[in-house]
Amino acid sequence: EVRVAPVAGDRDSGGGLFVLTFRDLTEARRMDRMRTDFVANASHELRTPLASLMGFIETMQGPARDDEAARIRFFAIMLDQAQRMARLIDDLLSLSRLEMRAHVAPEGQVDLGRTVTHVVDSLRPMANELGVEIELSLPDHTVMISGDVDELIQVFSNLVENACKYGQTGKRVEVTVTDMDKEGPQVTIQDFGPGIAKEHVPRLTERFYRVDVETSRTKKGTGLGLAIVKHILTRHRARLIIRSTPGEGSTFCVKFNPADQGEAVASKEIYK
Ligand code: ADP
Repeated sequence: EVRVAPVAGDRDSGGGLFVLTFRDLTEARRMDRMRTDFVANASHELRTPLASLMGFIETMQGPARDDEAARIRFFAIMLDQAQRMARLIDDLLSLSRLEMRAHVAPEGQVDLGRTVTHVVDSLRPMANELGVEIELSLPDHTVMISGDVDELIQVFSNLVENACKYGQTGKRVEVTVTDMDKEGPQVTIQDFGPGIAKEHVPRLTERFYRVDVETSRTKKGTGLGLAIVKHILTRHRARLIIRSTPGEGSTFCVKFNPADQGEAVASKEIYK
């Protein structure tokens, strides 16, 4: 949006007004550019598995028509590619729903300890398969915050899953819920894997940003997980603080706003 109306009663505002107009234009261009980049990236990410699917279908219609063993192998790859497309579409839908709700404060009361316990319990089988042990520490009292439980489950699932996948070599992931008077409620997820080089850290929450595209793909990533996390946390007025030391591991800390602590009431039965 470009504002050109002169400011009434302020003669000297002319010069400033040009600067303002210029800034608004660059901001609008930047947003436009980001949108175009996003559509291009999303199309490319969907096009790749689709091309692979089409290739396999053609091979099965032609050269592999009578090769039963090859067909079985190809079907497995095709299912994998279709699942990758489904994950991408789910994440794209999540992002667009979150964008529509960006300016609406989340409603509801969330028991933080219980929510994090639910997430850790549901991810233990996946962690076990990777040979990772998840250690959970909770405060000795209930910590309630205002928020949307499904969205927060998505945040913690993403962070714990990333810690297990990318920090697999560390064999251990620590998840800690704290509630200190001054700091407010916090959830910390720490892994002891390879860590992330400094230059990548500020860009991790950008859509489709991955440190290593191949690793992300083999680990069934879409490159949208942390962008979704960022959107949800912004809506919750919470912050994500990432610390990482290459060779030692990474810590993702979610800090809630102390002013948003919820009432100490029993939460609804949502943890099935
Ligand atoms: P993806 O779907 O690729 O996992 P995310 O948005 O969740 O996408 O994460 C973006 C990138 O950040 C990942 O591809 C990975 O390179 C890096 N990353 C995220 N968490 C960790 C971690 N705990 N340790 C090392 N790298 C990580």
